Amino acid sequence: MADYDYDLFVIGAGSGGVRAARIAATHGARVAIAEEYRYGGTCVIRGCVPKKLLVYASQYSEHFEDAKGFGWHVGETSFDWKKLIANKDQEIARLEGIYRRNLERSGVELHDTRAEIVGPHEVRLKAVNRTVSAKYILVATGGRPYLDDTVEGVEHTITSNEALHLSSFPKRIAIAGGGYIAVEFAGIFAGLGAETTLVYRGEEILRGFDDDLRTAVHNEMEKKGIRILCGEVFTKIERQSDGSLKGHLRQGATVEADQIMFAIGRRPNTDGLGLETAGVELGGKGEIKVDETSRTNVPSIYAIGDVTDRVNLTPVAIREGHAFADTVFGKSPRTVDHSLIPTAVFSQPEIGTVGLTEREACAAYPNVDVYRSIFRPMRHTLSGRDEKMVMKILVDADTDRVIGVHVLGPDAGELSQVLGIALKMGATKADFDATMAVHPTAAEELVTMREPAEQHRRAAAE
Ligand SMILES: Cc1cc2nc3c(=O)[nH]c(=O)nc-3n(C[C@H](O)[C@H](O)[C@H](O)COP(=O)(O)OP(=O)(O)OC[C@H]3O[C@@H](n4cnc5c(N)ncnc54)[C@H](O)[C@@H]3O)c2cc1C
Repeated sequence: MADYDYDLFVIGAGSGGVRAARIAATHGARVAIAEEYRYGGTCVIRGCVPKKLLVYASQYSEHFEDAKGFGWHVGETSFDWKKLIANKDQEIARLEGIYRRNLERSGVELHDTRAEIVGPHEVRLKAVNRTVSAKYILVATGGRPYLDDTVEGVEHTITSNEALHLSSFPKRIAIAGGGYIAVEFAGIFAGLGAETTLVYRGEEILRGFDDDLRTAVHNEMEKKGIRILCGEVFTKIERQSDGSLKGHLRQGATVEADQIMFAIGRRPNTDGLGLETAGVELGGKGEIKVDETSRTNVPSIYAIGDVTDRVNLTPVAIREGHAFADTVFGKSPRTVDHSLIPTAVFSQPEIGTVGLTEREACAAYPNVDVYRSIFRPMRHTLSGRDEKMVMKILVDADTDRVIGVHVLGPDAGELSQVLGIALKMGATKADFDATMAVHPTAAEELVTMREPAEQHRRAAAE
């Protein structure tokens, strides 16, 4: 490999790129990485981590209310947005430092610059205007929020990037979108005290999740005062003389807000990356097409994470990066299994899910049993909060195998991690039933649902 400056050049120091660079280096490769913004990427700097910190912050308003039923007298409370953002930024800076140091300790060379591909083995470092060569190039440039520029006045809106850094707290916010990012931010702003409106084009929020949970989370969000307008889109945004915004909706109504946030999807970061010059094949949304080993059609160029638009989650990008490094530099070829990925949505209440939705299960299996439990969690008996928990187990009735579990309620995300192990091991409903309950918990419901609420039977073809 001596003919090249490096064995591996990684573009993008996010979740996937950092893992790939470190593992390749520990396998003995000479590795360099370029980052144009901040080490840690979307997840650490402006995604999962800051978002979860803000979710925690937003839950205190309900904790204060709920405390009364448990005998606490909570005095006057107030909320300081600037302090929250400053503390969050301090934590993010700490994490970024750890990412940088871990790369350096692994022997990876760091380049604080945008990098672009100029050939199958060549990368241009923009800040220093220098071209370096590498036997392999790994593209791990992630994605960015998509803004619909056909909407007049879209330049007045913000995305999740800016929402995490607003200089003042918006008393009124409208969020366009119905995916997990839109729903999570609606919960954050509402919990912190903003008058919040969610405007979603489709029939129901959280497309792709189980219908029972979609309806339930919609209802619970409305109970918290969030206005949800489905079947609606913004057609025009106007800045008013007092600095506030007026959003015009397709059906004629208007929404007035201090901020309007667009969370209507993300696009892979491939613009101007030089991929066309190197002959790398892209898909319709600009995503890099790869095979199961994350290799593009150009043998020396690989791509992992959100830029490939497979399953856009941090743990997936990390696994893909690790598998790439083991395969190419560690003499242990392996691919990533993208099935049965447990997922959390930090909506309020929270969602934890793994496996097929009821709709998907019925399409994939002829006979499906649905076990469903909707109940008030114990903590809300004394708090008096009118909030229901939903648990749902889907079973292939022919094999007894559990093919999907969906939970809505406190700590559902934590539960989904453990449920993921059970489903990955091929657990049956009988295995769930044979497991002793943990009492008193909400999760015990998962092993005590005896009778199916519904049984879908597809008639045998004549
Ligand atoms: C608001 C929000 C919340 C999220 N919440 C969750 C969650 O709860 N759980 C979860 O699993 N996932 C979550 N995600 C998704 C998660 O952040 C991504 O799936 C993950 O970060 C993808 O990692 P990656 O390595 O592919 O790319 P990224 O982490 O996006 O990293 C790409 C890096 O490449 C850099 N870069 C881009 N182009 C260049 C260039 N030409 N030269 C140099 N550097 C470049 C970028 O600056 C960036 O640092 C969330 C995302 C968002 C936006």
